[in-house]
Amino acid sequence: MKTFDQQAAGRVIYELTAVIQKNRDYLSEIDGATGDGDHGVNMNKGFTKCREQLEGGGEGRSLSEAMDLLGDILLSEIGGSMGPLYGTFFMEMAENIGGKAQIGAEDFLGMLKAGLAGIRALVPTEIGDKTLLDVLVPSVAAFETALAVGKDFDAALDTLKVAAAESREATKDMVAKVGRASRLGERSRGFYDAGATSCALILASLADSVQALLR
Ligand SMILES: [Mg+2]
Repeated sequence: MKTFDQQAAGRVIYELTAVIQKNRDYLSEIDGATGDGDHGVNMNKGFTKCREQLEGGGEGRSLSEAMDLLGDILLSEIGGSMGPLYGTFFMEMAENIGGKAQIGAEDFLGMLKAGLAGIRALVPTEIGDKTLLDVLVPSVAAFETALAVGKDFDAALDTLKVAAAESREATKDMVAKVGRASRLGERSRGFYDAGATSCALILASLADSVQALLR
């Protein structure tokens, strides 16, 4: 199929919550190398609360409703910088697709761009500062390029996943310019960025779940 039914796709977010739960310790371990080590715990807290409220595995909720719920929980329940950033990301994406019945590749691209714009409006972070934007920006761009060269939705999601993994890997060689890790200067090189890592996990999970709906 070329599109999926937005109104019955709440499961996409339910599946994402499991990915964050599974990676709780890993994300905190990465954060602990250059920061305060709370990223996995914070993320798990918000995503677990969302999971508990998505009755029946998200069935009966639209993707927009499920993302709105997640965004609201992240904005209100998670401290630090990541709650507002991811909260805004999911709220903006929810709003972008809220009125649509079916989601095709161009709709999905528009949704990702809306989420990205929401984050960029909050932070002055540049590409190369070693943050989640170093995954989100190239991944969305890769998805857009894949569509521009004629790949279908499913194949472009494969491209998105590859870009997310590769760009996450690339953050290891970057020097942190913002956040707690920036205090380390050059010594932040050689470690993954925690936000970039959770962003790559989120994008891969969204892509996997949407591909399952398309097939
Ligand atoms: Mg932290």
